[in-house]
Amino acid sequence: APPASGEFLGHPKGLYVCFLTEMWERFAFYGMKALLFLYLTKHHRFSDTDGYLLLGTYAGLAYALPLLGGLLADRYLGMRKAVVYGGALLVFGQLGMAYTGDSATGLQGVADQDAFAVQVMYASLALIGVGVGFLKPNISTIVGRLYPDNDPRRDSGFTIFYMGINVGAFLSSLIVAYIGEKIGWGYGFALAGVMMALGLVQFLWGQKYLLGHAEPADPALLRAPVFAGLSRESMIYIGGLLLTVIVWQVLQTRIDLGPLSALAGGHEVTLTEVVAVVLGAGLYIWFIRLMMSGVSARDKGRMFMLMVLITVSALFWGLYEQTYGPWVAMADRVMDRTTFGIEWTAGQTTAIGALFVIALSPVFAWIWPRLDTRGLNPSYPAKFAWGLVFCGLAFAVLAYSAANAGADGLVSLWWMILAYFVLVLGEMVLSPIGLAAVTSLSIPRAVGTMMGAWFLFSAFGEIIAGRMGTWAAIPPTATQAEALAVYAEVFTRMMWIGLAAGVLLFAATPLLKRLVR
Ligand code: GLN
Repeated sequence: APPASGEFLGHPKGLYVCFLTEMWERFAFYGMKALLFLYLTKHHRFSDTDGYLLLGTYAGLAYALPLLGGLLADRYLGMRKAVVYGGALLVFGQLGMAYTGDSATGLQGVADQDAFAVQVMYASLALIGVGVGFLKPNISTIVGRLYPDNDPRRDSGFTIFYMGINVGAFLSSLIVAYIGEKIGWGYGFALAGVMMALGLVQFLWGQKYLLGHAEPADPALLRAPVFAGLSRESMIYIGGLLLTVIVWQVLQTRIDLGPLSALAGGHEVTLTEVVAVVLGAGLYIWFIRLMMSGVSARDKGRMFMLMVLITVSALFWGLYEQTYGPWVAMADRVMDRTTFGIEWTAGQTTAIGALFVIALSPVFAWIWPRLDTRGLNPSYPAKFAWGLVFCGLAFAVLAYSAANAGADGLVSLWWMILAYFVLVLGEMVLSPIGLAAVTSLSIPRAVGTMMGAWFLFSAFGEIIAGRMGTWAAIPPTATQAEALAVYAEVFTRMMWIGLAAGVLLFAATPLLKRLVR
């Protein structure tokens, strides 16, 4: 165990260093995300469809790249250096977003964008995506390493850490979104960058409390020159920048599939969607080969169940992430956002979800062990099925509210608050449970990759969310009544998807449970 002098409130001091770093990283990430759709459509005059697709593409890449960032840290860099490098890329990316150019004239979807400013934005999004890839998986791994094996404080350590994520998301949704929408987009993005920079400074100051748990596996290997006198470490940093250039291009590349495009509803597909399909296929092939490499029957059953859970999570996130697209659009266009005498901005409504996570985490942490001792703790698949059902019900609430708007053509914010409450019930039985399922069901030699796979399926969820979001695209000339009709119809469809998937998973639960007996 770490020396007592290295502890604060019963946890290693390093936990608070990681907590604050991830809090400011998520502050920047979610503040920017709350603004992104509004910024794309209102400032750079993207159509709704292009806005939803870029939101999904960018967030998808940001959740896919942790697979690579985790791998590089494991093999070469170590977590501490990876976090510093990722943090630096994030600062530049968030600050780059603050360059907004002068696109803001003309109609939505009409081409009088400031093309240079749009390119700066794509490059900034790429920096953020690669930065998240280096930072997010590794800051989480450090938390795990601060505790000796079988340390009972590990779970509560992760609970505290997950709170940090949501405190960051909550504060930035309120502050960054407000400044971005009311004072100027660039000021909001700049604030996200400044706070990320403070988070990085805090990490550099606090890294001494990580007590050597996040160092490179083989420092000599890292220092050895490999090419043109450059060390492996320098090569990784240069490689990260090259990757940023690639991501910058991937973000804005569309592919015309010719006759196959009918599969995507007659539209072009994004290159990211193609990459996602290839990566997904690759992961399943890796999984099948792993299953054939001398895994015991018992482990096979557990791994198979885990793979089903991970696959299902993509659909959950596909629905959940509508919050940063169509939910924000609805809040902006057809909602009376005044409560408690305050008129909230559309981007600020995303704070509601984070607030419920903060409020409900202790409740769920209290409930699970109590259900367990009574033998009532639902199995993993049953919990995931509940997650999908709650998700479907959240859409039912919003669909109902859109279909029954007041005479003024506006929906009350209270409906959205209720919808977020139901949605977060779904998040609580699926998201932290999924992390636990990865660590307890996976065979030990694959746990890192399975954790990467968990985030990869969050990435697929983001990409699915972008594509499903386009169903809710409306032309800039649409009236409020027309917008409400579209939201009512699309949210009803999403409700059925969530409910149907939940019911199917409930039906499959007895079968899946037999796998892990
Ligand atoms: N909200 C959590 C986070 O930002 C989990 C998101 C996810 O896995 N898609 O870390």
